Amino acid sequence: MAAINDKKGRLNEINERWKKDCACALRATATQAVPGDGNANADIVFIGEGPGRDEDIQGKPFVGAAGKFLNQMLGTIKLDRNDVYITNVVKYRPPNNRDPLPDEVESCYPWLTEQINLIDPKLIVLLGRHALERFFPEEKISNVHGKILRRSVRGLGKRDFYALYHPAAALYNGSMRATLIEDFKKIPKILKKSASIN
Ligand code: URA
Repeated sequence: MAAINDKKGRLNEINERWKKDCACALRATATQAVPGDGNANADIVFIGEGPGRDEDIQGKPFVGAAGKFLNQMLGTIKLDRNDVYITNVVKYRPPNNRDPLPDEVESCYPWLTEQINLIDPKLIVLLGRHALERFFPEEKISNVHGKILRRSVRGLGKRDFYALYHPAAALYNGSMRATLIEDFKKIPKILKKSASIN
C-alpha cells in the first residue's frame, strides 16, 4: 500500500516540478498548467491534444463537452476517470484553441514522458491526430485508429499504443462518432492482450 501511495506522491512531485520548470511558450498566455488527472497506478493513460477554455479555467484535462463524451465512453467499458490517467501533449492552452506548434509540443514532451514512465501503463490511448502525430508523425489517424501499435518511441522505449478519433472531432460527426464508440469498446480486449504479452 505504501508503494501505491508513493507513486501518487511521486506523480504529484513530477507535476509540481514541471509547473515551475516547463519552458513551453504557452505559459505566457495560459491561465494555468493542466498537468493531468486520474490514477497514478492506472493501466491506461489517455493523451489528448491540449487544454481548451474549460480546462484552462479548471486546471483539469477533458472537463468540457469532449470530456463529458469521454466520461460516457469510459462508462461503457465500466471505467471512470479515477481508474485511468488523462493528460495532453501540451500542458497549457494554446491561444484561441489553435493547434499547438512543434516547439510547444517538444517543450512539454519531457514532462509527458516522465508522467508515463512513472505510471508505466499497459496501454497508451492517443486521442486524435495531434497525439498520434507526437509519437508517429508518419501515420494517419484514418488508417491506424482502432489498431494496436506496439512500437519503440523516444523517451519511453517499447510501448503499446492505441489511437482513437478525438472525442471533440467525433462529437458532432455521425460516422466518426460511431467509429470512435466502436473502437473505444475494444479497449478492454486490447488491454488484456497487451497485459498477457508484457
Ligand atoms: N481536448 C483535448 O485534447 N484535451 C483536453 O484536455 C480537452 C479537450
